[in-house]
Order: sequence, then structure tokens, then C-alpha cells
Amino acid sequence: MSFDIVIVGAGPAGLCFARSLAGSGLRIALVEGQEEEVLITPPDDGREIAITHHSQRLLRELGLWARLHEDEVGCLRDAIVLDGNDRDGLIFRHDEMGKAQLGWLLSNHAIRRAAYAEVMTLPEVERITGARVSAVCTGSDGTQVSLENGEILHAQLVVAADSRFSATRRAMGIAASMHDFGKTMLVLRMQHDVPHEQVAWEWFGIGQTLALLPLHDPHTSSVVLTLPPPMMRTLLALDDAALAAAMAERFQQRLGAMRVSGPRCAYPLVGVYAKRFVAERFALIGDAAVGMHPVTAHGFNFGLLGQATLAREVRAAKAAGQPIWSPSVLQRYERRHRLATRPLYLATDLLAGLYTDDRRPARVVRKLALGAGARLRPFKRMVMAGLTAEASGLPMPFRQPGARNPR
Ligand SMILES: Cc1cc2nc3c(=O)[nH]c(=O)nc-3n(C[C@H](O)[C@H](O)[C@H](O)COP(=O)(O)OP(=O)(O)OC[C@H]3O[C@@H](n4cnc5c(N)ncnc54)[C@H](O)[C@@H]3O)c2cc1C
Repeated sequence: MSFDIVIVGAGPAGLCFARSLAGSGLRIALVEGQEEEVLITPPDDGREIAITHHSQRLLRELGLWARLHEDEVGCLRDAIVLDGNDRDGLIFRHDEMGKAQLGWLLSNHAIRRAAYAEVMTLPEVERITGARVSAVCTGSDGTQVSLENGEILHAQLVVAADSRFSATRRAMGIAASMHDFGKTMLVLRMQHDVPHEQVAWEWFGIGQTLALLPLHDPHTSSVVLTLPPPMMRTLLALDDAALAAAMAERFQQRLGAMRVSGPRCAYPLVGVYAKRFVAERFALIGDAAVGMHPVTAHGFNFGLLGQATLAREVRAAKAAGQPIWSPSVLQRYERRHRLATRPLYLATDLLAGLYTDDRRPARVVRKLALGAGARLRPFKRMVMAGLTAEASGLPMPFRQPGARNPR
């Protein structure tokens, strides 16, 4: 079982990386713990992923976009971020950048389904599913990947895309800084009487943060609520009718009556940044490299960007007849991806801390920050350029807490 590259993990990042190498002449093994049936029809995990213009271009180039159904694509026209009960906030309007919209919203399970369908068409990718990697060993003369079923794979290069809690990263001795925010994030699809008008809401309330992400149907949104775990447990114990009423109450009835229309999915909020993205004949991509707090909606956008950067370096080395695993190839990836992600990772950490801290000094600072942001045109333009730029995956500076409708 000898390959050019073994990819560990067939999540969105691992799948996109395999797809990005199509036609390069490299033989790839893609190892995934889940069974193939699950990968072909992934379960709804409640996540709605906000996609920037640059990510949308990458998804088109990889063939994933064409595999999405029309009703799986939501339009993110405008967004508003508000603090507490203020009437004025930071409004991001698509027309300020001459674009038809700020971005798109796609369900994570739709992305996974589309990516897996694309990879299934690639003869050079051997899919090894229902198999977990138990050990990885790399050295100057090659790599060895051991599976729990006793099989051993050999490759020139191992690329790990096995989530923010990556066991492969740990096995390679790569440290990561982790920030546990001590909060739980609930994502829940809901129908509501008042239409969303394709506007995302961010609402940094006292003791809670709420977001509303507009989906394809004008009366359906993804509601994202962040609470301390004990409060979340109480909420999740409610039946659908009581939960819907509690959500309508949290939104101060601004959306009229609300109904639960999707699974309840709760996630612990943990941010992760690997100290290194590469080692000898080894690279980390996706959340295994940079696991963002969802408040800035950038985990997958960065995952897409990183896999594209690494694939470009690997393809160039292969085309030039150079080793795809050479330190210079890997270090170029490390440098570029760190530069692209580190500032926003740090800013997100700061923002997430500030907006989940209800003590008085934090409340004053965020009120000032939002007020200043609303007045400072250059700041707004920088944020909007990040969302709408075609050429790089820059910040999507909000996600999660919601606010009033800017109408
Ligand atoms: C609530 C929420 C909202 C989000 N919203 C946004 C957003 O708006 N915009 C955005 O860009 N991002 C968003 N994200 C982040 C985004 O979902 C992630 O960045 C992305 O899914 C990570 O993809 P990945 O492939 O790196 O990892 P994962 O999706 O975690 O996939 C890892 C894969 O590796 C497999 N695996 C793990 N260990 C092994 C092993 N030992 N052997 C074999 N296989 C293994 C797993 O089974 C899994 O399939 C959000 C995340 C959450 C939780």
C-alpha cells in the first residue's frame, strides 16, 4: 500500500485537498474513520457556513458549487452587528462594495456531500473509509501510516485534516494553543413569520449571544445561540414547542412566531492554532491547523484557502520534478498560511472574549468599538473588502450573535 500522499480525514478540508490535486499525476490515499454511506449522504450537523467571494470561486473551480442544489444556497446580502439593546450598530451593506451580496450560506453537510461526490470521480484517489489512523511515523526516507485494523500505508507525504482535536497532530509532537471559551453554541434551523430579507443578524446581548443566518427560504434561518453550558442544558431539555417559544422570546418577538425545523446541534467553543503547520514529510490543513471560533465565520474559508495553498505548492514541485515533500515546499505553505490566518485568529480570540464577557469594562469597550466602527469608513471598507475580494480569503468579521433587522 504505497502512495504519494496519504490524507488523514475526509472532512471538507481533506476532500477539497484531494480534489485540488486531481490530474497532478500523484497517487493519493484518503483515510476516513466514517463509513462510505455516511460520507455519500452526510447527516445534517446544523452548521450553516458563511462563504466569502473568494471561497465561492474556489468551490466553483473544484466543481463543488455545481453539485449544490438551488435550495441549499442562501444569499447573505447584508449584515448588522448590534450590542445590547442599542438601535445603532455596524451595518455592512453589499452595495457599498458594488457587489450583489456580501457572501453565501451553505449547509456543512451539503458541502461534504458535494466534495465527496467530486472525489468519488477521481481514479487517482483511493478512498479507505471506515478506517481510523492509529499512528503516523515520518522520517527522511518516507512515512508510515498505521490504521486501527492493522493495515500499514506508506507515502512520500502525510497531510492531516483530522479536525481541530487532531490526534495525528499530537502523534507528530506538534503543539497547539487551545482556547476553551467555556461556552456551548447551539445551531438550530427555525422558521419564522417575519421574513429575513437575506440579512444576517448579530446580537451581543447580556448573558447570551445570538445570530440569525438567512437561508434560501425567506422564512427560514439558522439560529445560533451561545450560552454557558448549564443554561444550554436547561434549554435543550425543552420540547420543540417550548424551545421555539423560548427562542422567539430571546429574539424579543422581532421575527414573530418561530418554529423548530431542523436538528438541535450543540458544539463546545474551542479555538485551536497549531504551533507549526509542517514537520518532516508532514503537513496540517483545515481545522487541524487553524480551528477558528465561529464568531468570525472563517474556519472553512481558511480551510479552503490552506488546502489550495498547499496543493499549489505540491503541484508546482511535482511539475518541476522536485520532491513534493521537500522542506522548502512545506515551509512555503506554512509561511503563506500563517500570514493569511494568524492576524484574524488573534483578532477573533479577542473579539470572542470581549463579546462573551458581560462585566462592565468589557461592555463599555464593545459599545465604543461598535460605535467607532460604525463611524469609521476605512475600518468598514477593510472588513467589506475581506468579504467580497475575489483573490484571497480574508475576514468574515461576524457570525454567531444576532441583532435587529437593519430595515
Ligand atoms: C457551529 C459552527 C459554525 C461554523 N460556521 C462557519 C462559517 O460560517 N464559516 C466557516 O468558514 N466555517 C465555519 N465553521 C467551521 C467549519 O465548520 C470547519 O472549519 C470545517 O468543517 C473543518 O473542516 P475539516 O475538514 O478541517 O475538519 P472536520 O470537518 O472536523 O473533519 C475531520 C474529519 O477527519 C476524520 N477523522 C478524525 N480523526 C480521524 C482518524 N484518526 N482517522 C481517520 N479519520 C479521522 C473525521 O471523521 C472527520 O470526517 C463552523 C463551525 C461550527 C462548529
